[in-house]
Amino acid sequence: MNPEKIKYTCPACKKEVEVEAFSNINVTLNPELKEKLFSGELFVHECPYCQAKSQVMYSFIYHDMVNKILISFGDEAEHVEELIQNLQSELSEEDFDLKQFMQEYRVRSVKNINDLFEKIYLFEAELDDRVIELCKLLILDNAKEEDLLKDEKILDIRYLPKEIMQSKGNITDDIIGMNIYCEGDKAFIRTIEIPFYDQTKNQIIDLVREKNLMDDLVIDQSWVEKILLK
Ligand SMILES: [Zn+2]
Repeated sequence: MNPEKIKYTCPACKKEVEVEAFSNINVTLNPELKEKLFSGELFVHECPYCQAKSQVMYSFIYHDMVNKILISFGDEAEHVEELIQNLQSELSEEDFDLKQFMQEYRVRSVKNINDLFEKIYLFEAELDDRVIELCKLLILDNAKEEDLLKDEKILDIRYLPKEIMQSKGNITDDIIGMNIYCEGDKAFIRTIEIPFYDQTKNQIIDLVREKNLMDDLVIDQSWVEKILLK
């Protein structure tokens, strides 16, 4: 059942167009889909009537069997049962052990494409997104006190993959890079030392155990606030 057909209305000629949509993006079996996802090509469709190109987003499941990553992207992202069912049918295993699967896999659910990319980068680098979300909160807290940043309007903060850090001249191995995006196209790199990351990781693991939140699939800033408050 992959790809499926979805319909959209061409914004240029207003005709209804049918396009292929990949509801299962298995990057181990179809590595070319990963390239198309990251380049954005996957969502660019050309109208067969007027040749206008438009972006058509749709829900899908990102599955990396090597790195054991399973991320649901889209509006219905919280429908975990559906996600697992799709996976079961994909793997076609009769004795599918859900508990073991959830222990081995990083299973997440996101609605924003940048969140998806960030999680893929983090998991491929063997980093824990829950720890990174807490580190983001701490970095943003510090930024409020920083002379350079206190008057900036901060829009977002994202993990910077190692290759990008290296291309910017930050070549040490013992730091994790984060980029703070501010209004006016400004960005500021801040770093996390590995010992601090490890310490934060222990804190998160304790909190998650204590509050029984092992199975949470939506990991973002609200999740960290929730776990710290409870
Ligand atoms: Zn058209």
